[in-house]
Amino acid sequence: MLEVEDLHVEFRTRDGVAQAVNGVSYTVEAGETLAVLGESGSGKSVTAQAIMGIVDTPPGHITGGRVRFRGQDIFALPENKRQSIRGREIAMIFQDALSALNPVFPVGWQIAEMFRIHQGTSRSDARKRAIELMDRVHIPAASSRARDYPHQFSGGMRQRIMIATAIALDPAVLIADEPTTALDVTVQAQIMKLLRELQQDSGMGLILITHDLGVVADVADRIAVMYTGRIVEHASVDQIYQAPAHPYTRGLLASIPRVDLKGRELAAIRGLPPNLMNIPPGCAFHPRCSSAEELCHRTRPALTEVRPGRSSACHFASEVVDGAR
Ligand code: SF4
Ligand code: MG
Repeated sequence: MLEVEDLHVEFRTRDGVAQAVNGVSYTVEAGETLAVLGESGSGKSVTAQAIMGIVDTPPGHITGGRVRFRGQDIFALPENKRQSIRGREIAMIFQDALSALNPVFPVGWQIAEMFRIHQGTSRSDARKRAIELMDRVHIPAASSRARDYPHQFSGGMRQRIMIATAIALDPAVLIADEPTTALDVTVQAQIMKLLRELQQDSGMGLILITHDLGVVADVADRIAVMYTGRIVEHASVDQIYQAPAHPYTRGLLASIPRVDLKGRELAAIRGLPPNLMNIPPGCAFHPRCSSAEELCHRTRPALTEVRPGRSSACHFASEVVDGAR
């Protein structure tokens, strides 16, 4: 359905060139959920923004790669075709639902606008469909609440309204960029459950961008772990939970709070992600990796299949996945 192939994005600023995305490839099929996981600055959002066409204006530059939707190279399409794919076929929701909604219009009106603008639906039909959508994302008393303004809703309910707007045109792919980060844990779980439910009903492909492995465990099929603009591990959720094949994934896994280990100190990955204007040579993770050896300082590990269906960019991936390192 959607294929990202060898994507490169850089930001050219006065201080230097930030290499934000350095050869990312992934695919999402219909009815499938891909979680893209990484710390801030790993390139996960920038990759999504490149898909949506909101990054290729200075200082942002797409310097290589392709994005294909149903086999068509989006970057090569004429502007009007590109615009109709983005927004209709590929929709995106963001972390901050409050600033994404317009404070001066009732929420039902904002959802209805999607139908009026894109499908020329009459005012009364658009309103009816907006209420149906609010119902579908489980907003209680949808028909009366459609007249309320964004500030009259809780953070979780506003995010549901954003989701309703994003799925209004029945997109083939939905990209959700940290959709629950601003919400408390219980509401996070409810929103994830809703996204899963909508995805299963509609058969859309879902890309979930997150820094929190714990949030996506129950909803994702596959996980692509990103670090300094590259995918460092790509595997099924089960494989990653059973035995990560990259020391960075292992660190992320160890930092998830677990109910069964309550009271235990959270293992954090030491140090900080590098400056993207000055990515370390060799394996970019080596300054933070407790398994690093001389080779890691000099030679960049390629993303390679270590086991059927899973890839890792670590010189010692086989030993890591076997627990020998
Ligand atoms: Fe660590 Fe070396 Fe593997 Fe990089 S290649 S993750 S530095 S062991
Ligand atoms: Mg981000």
